[in-house]
Amino acid sequence: MAITAICPACDETIILNAAPKLDQKIRCTHCRTDLIVVDLDPVELDWDDFEDDWDDDDDWDDEEDDDEEW
Ligand SMILES: [Zn+2]
Repeated sequence: MAITAICPACDETIILNAAPKLDQKIRCTHCRTDLIVVDLDPVELDWDDFEDDWDDDDDWDDEEDDDEEW
């Protein structure tokens, strides 16, 4: 029996060959968005780009503000 999930980016059905695991990375075969498994019953996918990027942005903003004060 094929396991399917809906891509949050393009709303297309993604067919998974093997049983997915939590936090498994999956690339949408339709729009090539990198996704991650966030739920198993039913299988639910979410974007996989919200971990590393946020921390870097915060640091940069603080340093730029200090430079402009004088
Ligand atoms: Zn997609």
